[in-house]
Amino acid sequence: MPQTYSQDLPHGITTIDTGYCRPGFDASHLLVEKGQAALVDVGTAFSVPRLLQVLETKGIAREAVRYVMVTHVHLDHAGGAGSLLRYLPNAQLVAHPRGAPHLIDPAKLIAGATAVYGEERFNALYGEIVPVAAERVITAPDNLELRLNGRPLLFLDTPGHARHHYCIYDAASRGMFSGDTFGLSYRDFDSEKGPFIFPTTTPVQFDPKALHASIERLLSFNPARMYLTHYGCVEIVPRLADELHVMIDAFVGLAREAAAEGEDRHAMLVAGLNRLLLSALQAHDCGLPQARMRELLAVDVELNAQGLEIWLNKSAET
Ligand SMILES: [Zn+2]
Repeated sequence: MPQTYSQDLPHGITTIDTGYCRPGFDASHLLVEKGQAALVDVGTAFSVPRLLQVLETKGIAREAVRYVMVTHVHLDHAGGAGSLLRYLPNAQLVAHPRGAPHLIDPAKLIAGATAVYGEERFNALYGEIVPVAAERVITAPDNLELRLNGRPLLFLDTPGHARHHYCIYDAASRGMFSGDTFGLSYRDFDSEKGPFIFPTTTPVQFDPKALHASIERLLSFNPARMYLTHYGCVEIVPRLADELHVMIDAFVGLAREAAAEGEDRHAMLVAGLNRLLLSALQAHDCGLPQARMRELLAVDVELNAQGLEIWLNKSAET
């Protein structure tokens, strides 16, 4: 069966399209070290057949997968973990200490996502959320080092997108598995200037100050590349970090402007985010028609607007 949804990178790393939402939107990364394997983020329950297919095509036995590492417990990253683990008898799940309990008992995750999407859409997007047996879970406190067949992987607590978020530094590739902490960069928007990047403020724990600090922490490792869940490998890391910092502040500025708008607040934020991102894409010399850009941005603009509103509500309380 021909595979069009995985791309091999150097250093034993493969980007796999999980199939969530649209092509090129949501990735899992496979890491192979001398016959042993690990996955970073896994998509949803619907992604499991693809992940297993890639293992099979590469001749990696299911028994050789040692770790399933989820950068945070949002369902586009971790929703399929429980389903996948049923097929990987020797794999342990590595989760942030704040996220692990929700993978063992997913009731709150399901309730939270159902509140955002409604029940019908939730089922269509995520399918079954299978609980993970507690004895298969390793919690990853800040600075934990695990070895995949001797290859060191360093877990970094990186709040800002979510408080239950870690990133993983892979010294062998000088690469960082960044989950959603280092923003979103779709290959659709690549231009002669390289990749285009923007932050994600998805509900419900966006914290701009923490996000700025986490990006700086990632940079302190001087990584040559980032492996983003949305989507794939990007280089030119310092330029992208600068752009993320500027855009986080611009998003927060939009939110503050919209704060007093009451009922119109959501619509105002959606319009503001579209304006900001479309003009940045234009400056980036992205050649796509504007309608196509809007279409590609729509999911993130909606979620970012919701997350900024939640942040505004929380800021007003304190
Ligand atoms: Zn995500």
